[in-house]
Amino acid sequence: MNLTPQLLDIIACPKCKGALLLTAASDALLCHHCALSYPVRDEIPVLLIDEATPLTERS
Ligand SMILES: [Zn+2]
Repeated sequence: MNLTPQLLDIIACPKCKGALLLTAASDALLCHHCALSYPVRDEIPVLLIDEATPLTERS
């Protein structure tokens, strides 16, 4: 399973249902609306609010 543009079209932030932005390293999905970063593990996005980290905590 790869994170294709088609997949990015159908997945959405579980909190605001907004669009997610894949990081350049493909290791996280960002929601700028919620300022949350969702991890990507083994190319599978973990779209759980409990697993998300606030963007403000990333240096
Ligand atoms: Zn969001």
